[in-house]
Amino acid sequence: MPELPEVETVRASLARDMVGKKVKSAAVTNGRVVRRHKSAKEFRALLEGHAMKSVQRLGKNLVIALDNGSHLVIHLGMSGQLLRAKGSKDPKPKHTHVVFTLSPAGELRYVDPRTFGELYVSTPPAEGDVVEISKFARLSIGGDGMALRRAVPELAHLGLDPLEDQIGWDRLAAVLRSRTTPLKAVLTDQDIICGIGNIYCDEILFAAGLRFDRPADSLSTIEIRRLHRSTIEILSDAIKHGGSTLDDEQFVDPDGKPGDYQDLHQVYNREGLPCFECRTPIVREVFRQRATFYCPKCQS
Ligand SMILES: [Zn+2]
Repeated sequence: MPELPEVETVRASLARDMVGKKVKSAAVTNGRVVRRHKSAKEFRALLEGHAMKSVQRLGKNLVIALDNGSHLVIHLGMSGQLLRAKGSKDPKPKHTHVVFTLSPAGELRYVDPRTFGELYVSTPPAEGDVVEISKFARLSIGGDGMALRRAVPELAHLGLDPLEDQIGWDRLAAVLRSRTTPLKAVLTDQDIICGIGNIYCDEILFAAGLRFDRPADSLSTIEIRRLHRSTIEILSDAIKHGGSTLDDEQFVDPDGKPGDYQDLHQVYNREGLPCFECRTPIVREVFRQRATFYCPKCQS
């Protein structure tokens, strides 16, 4: 599943050439991907004729601001891809569910073999509407996350975004000390901290030298500072490498280019292989139905 670094890779790519372009038409061939709307027609009507003003990200969501104050929100789900094309003559990949025809030129296509992803248009909250922001997000001390949550109420439930919200280690400490659940459950709960999924959680915990099943409130101050630093470093590094492209997920950027951060994974998908730090074989364990990888010696 695309996580924060992959979604950020897509965002940065779209931000380079989508801003200022107009959505001439939005053709939906699989209504399931616009399931929040009454009909595909409603989705189209909210988009067509509007220009894109900016491309932002919150957690695993892409947020494209339109010139009328609405936002197009895209969540790639398990296998969603956004691919640009020169025009309608470019061959369409299998599982293309939405085609945006852009003005002055080009297309943006939403492709999703498993169809867990979704697209919707969020209209601005009415005057006087109170947007209930998540209590974790309210710990943020800066960044663009707050404004995005206020503009797109559908995203107000999201927890802290490690890059988009400014969070010092002390804010992370406040979050962790309020939870008794295992560390991995806290780090991957989108309503507490958003953007981290299975892959980056395992990589972050390895970098921080922490086991996934440590109760969140059991960390010392030094361990919390290490976890805070590892979170920012691993996510930033993965963005520099265009994210991770695994054999079974086929993540690619809008130009069809895969990421290469998978070559730098320390534990994820490395069951039985020697730890790069201590040569101990990496262990795979199932935690809440998901595979978890860790070094039994380096992580405690
Ligand atoms: Zn090790």
